[in-house]
Amino acid sequence: MSNKQGQYVYSFTEGDGKARQLLGGKGANLCEMTQIGLNVPPGYTITTEACLKYLENNNTYPDGLMEEVKEQMTALEKVTGKGFGDAHNPLLVSVRSGSAMSMPGMMDTILNLGMNSETLQGEIEQTGDERFAYDAYRRFIQLFGKVALNVDDEHFDEPFEALKKREGVKEDVGLSADNLKEISEVFLDVVHAQTGQAFPEDPYIQLDLAIKAVLGSWSGKRAVDYRREFNITPEMANGTAVNICTMVFGNRGDDCATGVAFTRNPGNGENIFYGEYLVNAQGEDVVAGIRTPKPIAQMAEEMPDLYRQLEELRSKLETHYSEIQDFEFTIEKGILYCLQTRNGKMNTQAMVRTSVELVQEGLINEEQALLRIAPESLEQMLFPRLDPNANATALATGLPASPGAACGHVVFDADRAVAQKAANDRPLILLREETKPEDIHGFFVSEAILTSRGGKTSHAAVVARGMGKPCVAGAAGIEVDVLARRAHIGDVVIKEGDLITLDGTTGSVYLGAVDTVEAEFSDELKTLLSWADKRARLKVMANADVPEDAERALKYGAMGIGLCRTERMFNAAERLPIVLEMIVSDTLEQRQAALDRLLPIQRQDFVELFTTMSPRPVTVRLLDPPIHEFLPSENQLIDDLVQLKHLRDSMRGSEVLSATLSLLSTENGVLAPIQQLADSSLVDEAIEKKEAILKKVRSLFEVNPMLGHRGVRLGITFPEIYAMQIRAVLEAACECQKKGVEVHPEIMIPQVCTSEELITIKVIVETIRKEVEQAQGIAPIFKFGTMMEVVRACMRAEQLAQEVEFFSFGTNDLTQAAFSFSREDAENKFLPMYNEAGILQDNPFEVLDTKGVGKLMELAVGWGRGVRKDMKIGICGEHGGHPASINFCHKIGLTYVSCSGPRVPIARLAAAHAVLLESSS
Ligand code: ADP
Ligand code: MG
Ligand code: MG
Repeated sequence: MSNKQGQYVYSFTEGDGKARQLLGGKGANLCEMTQIGLNVPPGYTITTEACLKYLENNNTYPDGLMEEVKEQMTALEKVTGKGFGDAHNPLLVSVRSGSAMSMPGMMDTILNLGMNSETLQGEIEQTGDERFAYDAYRRFIQLFGKVALNVDDEHFDEPFEALKKREGVKEDVGLSADNLKEISEVFLDVVHAQTGQAFPEDPYIQLDLAIKAVLGSWSGKRAVDYRREFNITPEMANGTAVNICTMVFGNRGDDCATGVAFTRNPGNGENIFYGEYLVNAQGEDVVAGIRTPKPIAQMAEEMPDLYRQLEELRSKLETHYSEIQDFEFTIEKGILYCLQTRNGKMNTQAMVRTSVELVQEGLINEEQALLRIAPESLEQMLFPRLDPNANATALATGLPASPGAACGHVVFDADRAVAQKAANDRPLILLREETKPEDIHGFFVSEAILTSRGGKTSHAAVVARGMGKPCVAGAAGIEVDVLARRAHIGDVVIKEGDLITLDGTTGSVYLGAVDTVEAEFSDELKTLLSWADKRARLKVMANADVPEDAERALKYGAMGIGLCRTERMFNAAERLPIVLEMIVSDTLEQRQAALDRLLPIQRQDFVELFTTMSPRPVTVRLLDPPIHEFLPSENQLIDDLVQLKHLRDSMRGSEVLSATLSLLSTENGVLAPIQQLADSSLVDEAIEKKEAILKKVRSLFEVNPMLGHRGVRLGITFPEIYAMQIRAVLEAACECQKKGVEVHPEIMIPQVCTSEELITIKVIVETIRKEVEQAQGIAPIFKFGTMMEVVRACMRAEQLAQEVEFFSFGTNDLTQAAFSFSREDAENKFLPMYNEAGILQDNPFEVLDTKGVGKLMELAVGWGRGVRKDMKIGICGEHGGHPASINFCHKIGLTYVSCSGPRVPIARLAAAHAVLLESSS
């Protein structure tokens, strides 16, 4: 449409149905529907441009606006054969807001405008229905009073309720014409009393005030807050349009009705007509829930002919818009009108199903089907979530650390969790202040994890995400008392065994059982994602540490494993003691002995992992975290020692007791147990062990462990640790190859900052490769690569590329390094404030900072590929599952992204979007 200079008003017959910015969504669709021949009551739209000018000019209309409005009114009078303000055959209109983005309930609509003491009589004359006319009148006074004259609702509601009470009726329909006449007069008095002025009689003054009220509502507090809350920017919607639409009445008898409908079921996407209607009612009655509406199917019996027309409207709308529609209709005296349509808002399940079915029906193509669905929204389908119909109030909130909802009985420590699971198999939720590697067995038997301390990268969060279990971390309101086996949240006490529910998608914690809905990886989703894979250029890998994770990732369509964190393999309950031995040992021999015991275990892990993933690649990262992470904390050890020493003292006492008792009596039943208990040498041994560990913990102390002795630094100072891991990978590869299982392991070195480090490790790899090849009689297939998570590594990409076959960006550490933010501290302290104040737009740990961190990546990709043309380069940080970050990875030419298993489908869709959005722009 040529937005003609100075034209602020467009009739529904002339406005451009595509011009949503200018005419608002409602207005554009009213124009479009009118022009494709659907029965829309005649009307016109005042543009958003007029709105902006009005607001800019201190609430004055732009030049000529009112003249255009008057012209349109005259035209309306002509088509309807009625007169605006005509005492015998009055024209009534609605004045409706509507911006480019739907903002439900934020701005207002006024119905029945044009009513006054004279046109009221005209309305009675025309319809012969006094009750109807007074009903329309009192509704108008009330709505106009509220919206245009700022009279508080309660001033109308109170006398109205009092009247209903007096008459003994529950519903408005129970009121007689006289009642409504009476209340109209009361309402007029209310307006006078509240505004100090009589209710405006002149319809043009009414129209003027109504238009101003709607235009002004755009900058009202409600609308402004809403736009802030939902991030609606001026690019998305700027100003509201005003739609002025001839009134049609669904409340003029039993051949009248009104309703709202979806062309398909928005709850599950099923292709059945879905909606509700009310006979003899006005639109707002359905929305306001004043009367209980009937399901649309019932109309087939009640008004068969109109139902057929409605079905026809349904199919015309869908075919025309190629999209599920959510529409409003009114039937006046047997004539069907469509009053509004918009794209239906649906849950993700319904979006996915309709996407696939619309393609099958030929209404859209596969690419449109993919673009209809926001990748992030798939989360709804991939994790269990709280039943949207359950309305529970949260008891506490923490960080949404791992998505999904779960309900279970609280336990406060991992050992008790395991014992309870064994005793009676019921769902558990592990609640701790924070978790440590030694709690891992508690994770396995729990449905979800809740901590009162720590952030999104705390042990609890990372491990829970890896396992795909819901986790709420750092719920600061909860005070955990492990010894007493209880927790306090304000006045509420949670005891062991109490039921709680948590939602790791939102971070909310609820007391008691809240219903949850299961995740479902539906056939439609599989179909949709197969269309995505056909188009995506990025491969999508999963981060998976153990074979069970890998199996799950495969179900989600992972094309390989982009990150296997080998240290997770050390965490299993029966392995931790050996790992502990490895760490505590003082000599190389002792350490080697422990490593020798770990080797077959780790090799077996790899055999299983490679076999599960065959023939896909599996990237194995050698030991990364500072080793003291495998040890209990200093405080814990000191506590334990205090307890043990108490025990030793009291055991001395019981030794004395038992000796004394045995002198006193020879046959005494209580003696035996006391004697059994009284073996203090065991306790001495335990004390000795703990003291040795404490000594080690103290010697391993680092001021800043995340920047300390970890990753390849550890691998170079304790080469025997990496040697064991490398051997495990290569021997596992040989074992698989001999069985005819195709494997593509990749050894990846963490925390590298210089190629010298890689060269040092390569010497070890080469030595072991020779040994393994000789011993096994077969050459192991593998690749050698490096993490890119240190700023210097990015800057030296050219040199690193000479030593390795692939790069993998670890964007969590890289982000920490690029910003000099420690993630935990940033997220818990200043980052939220930074975001609030707009100093940083996003949390760079969730949304890849393309400008800084991304720039480093882009440079490294260029330098690396300068050396190795088709070098495999991926990302394995959490950003690898974030749609906007994936789009960036696509743009800089990465080969793959890797993310947690349940996010793989999101990443697959996002990878396809990256291609489709690129070609469309
Ligand atoms: P919202 O954006 O809140 O849905 P609308 O402008 O669509 O507001 O109007 C509110 C209600 O009034 C809806 O039920 C709508 O169908 C009804 N309505 C609006 N204009 C008219 C009209 N000209 N005739 C009959 N009903 C109308
Ligand atoms: Mg509406
Ligand atoms: Mg890292």
